[in-house]
Order: sequence, then structure tokens, then C-alpha cells
Amino acid sequence: MQIQTFSIVVGTKACNARCPFCVSSMTGFGELPKRGAIELVHFAKACQLARLAGTTTVLMTGKGEPTLYPEEISEYLRLLVRSQFPFIELQTNALDIGWLARDGRAKHAKSLERHTLAGWRQSGLNTVAISVVGIDPELNRPVYHDDYPDLATTIKFLHEIGFTVRLCVMMQQGSVDTPEALQRVIDFCRINLVEQLTVRPIRKPDHSEDRDVSTYVVERGITHDQELVIRTWVERQGRRLLSLMHGAIVYDVGGQNVCLSDCLTNDSSNGDIRTLIFYSDGRLTYDWQYEGAVLLGGVPMALREADRRNREEI
Ligand code: SF4
Repeated sequence: MQIQTFSIVVGTKACNARCPFCVSSMTGFGELPKRGAIELVHFAKACQLARLAGTTTVLMTGKGEPTLYPEEISEYLRLLVRSQFPFIELQTNALDIGWLARDGRAKHAKSLERHTLAGWRQSGLNTVAISVVGIDPELNRPVYHDDYPDLATTIKFLHEIGFTVRLCVMMQQGSVDTPEALQRVIDFCRINLVEQLTVRPIRKPDHSEDRDVSTYVVERGITHDQELVIRTWVERQGRRLLSLMHGAIVYDVGGQNVCLSDCLTNDSSNGDIRTLIFYSDGRLTYDWQYEGAVLLGGVPMALREADRRNREEI
């Protein structure tokens, strides 16, 4: 069994954006665990399993926006040092990072400062993956926030701190839905030295928990034909570099790294796992959609707090 990515769910469902296609709101199993001490015993087991299954990448992500919880990110980075995963990445809408870059302070994540980000890099975080629907503020503003910070400035700020930047473009009608639109994104990435570009269509899971969001995705998602046209164009323009698990393919398109991916595919036929998912209460699963994909259950808060006190006393 191989596990491609070890995902850590940071924070709560709180988010400073309002994406109408939010995959998190369609794939929840009720409430997230209450914030409190991270379940350290299960976390150590999750790291051990990921290492044994050949995982090279840890992704700090969320059911909301992880940068709203800087202290939690710092704590996970401290805990991850021992396991020595080569790559540690953060998935974010980068709104607060962008405001920090522009205004010198974040709006919502009050304790997020430049030195916080620099400290994360020192602790092993190497890549910041920014979710967008396109490169134009007119496209990102209505989806993420009325005060959408300039994307190029955000990218430059992250580069100056030493991060690799990945732009993750959620393809939908009217934004990136043709080869021409994708070419513009590639040109932007080349100009702004964005190391990695991932494009994926917005998707509805098999079982959606939010009817409004799934209706939006059905109405605004790109069609199968549009997807095929884009795939064919990338195949013609680019050179295949790497096939990742679950169908994602990485290309070089005119010198730009481009990954064609999908946010929800989970081919269970070969026993490999696309992503191991750790929640702070110790719940360990391997699918965002299906509650049955559980490896370890959560541990009550009182026990976690007691474990932590015991460790501190030792
Ligand atoms: S940034 Fe992510 S969590 Fe927040 S609303 Fe958008 S898709 Fe959902």
C-alpha cells in the first residue's frame, strides 16, 4: 500500500472566504472536533503509517482556512520535525497572507506576521499552495473576498521569504474554461516565477451535504467536453513529466510546470491511498467523502489534555 499525501486538517470550518463551490462544505461529517490539545499518540501513529507507506508530502489544509490558526500550524510543524517528511505544504486562499504583504498586517489571522511565515519555513514548510479561480482580480474578488489582495504581490512576498509557490486554479465557467484562458494563466506564472501550477475542475462529490453548493457546481462547472479540449491542448503543448497517483499528470508547458488534477478522485481498486487525513482529535481517515474510511477514532478532549499534562510533567 502506498499513500501519496498526508493531509492534516488545521483549525475549524471557519473561513475568511466565501467560495460558492466550497468542497469542504459538501464533504463534512458533521462538526469538526472542538479545538484543543492535538492527539499526540494518534498523530505519531499517523506519521509512522505515512512514512511506512512511502509518503513524501505533508499537506496542511483545512475544512476552513488554515492560516486563521497560525499557532496550530506552528505546533504541527514542531511535531513533524521528528518524522522528517521531505515536503511540507500549506493549502490556503492566501487572503490574510496577501493583506499582510500589502498592508503589513493580516485582517483576520491577527497573530500572522512576516516572522511567523519565516519561522514556518525554518521549521520545514516549503510550499504555499494558493487557491484561485484565475489570475484576474475581477474573477477572484466575487469568489473569495471583496478586498482581494493583488496576487502578484502575494506571490512575490512568499518568494522573498523563501517559499515555493503553487497556484491551484479551480476551473469553472467564465474563468479558466478554455486553452486560451489557461495559456494566460501559464504566462502569468512564467512572469511571476510561480514554480508550480495545478488546474482542476470544480467538482461535486458523490454525496454532497450542501445542496446550494452542489447546484452551483453543476451549473458553473466546466463540461466534460471543455475538460477534454483543455487536456488535449496540454498534451499537445506540453511534455509529460510525471504521472501521480489517481490520474494527476504533471507536464512541462513551455518551461512552466503544469499539473492536471482532480480534487475528489479516489480510485480504490489498487489498495493505494491518495490521502491520509488527520484531525486534531486523533481521527485518522483516508477519504474526504466517505465516513466509513476510518482507521482511528477521535479521543475525548479531557483525555488529550490529561495526556499532554502527563508529558509535560515527565
Ligand atoms: S477558501 Fe477553501 S474553505 Fe474557504 S470557502 Fe473557499 S473552498 Fe471553502
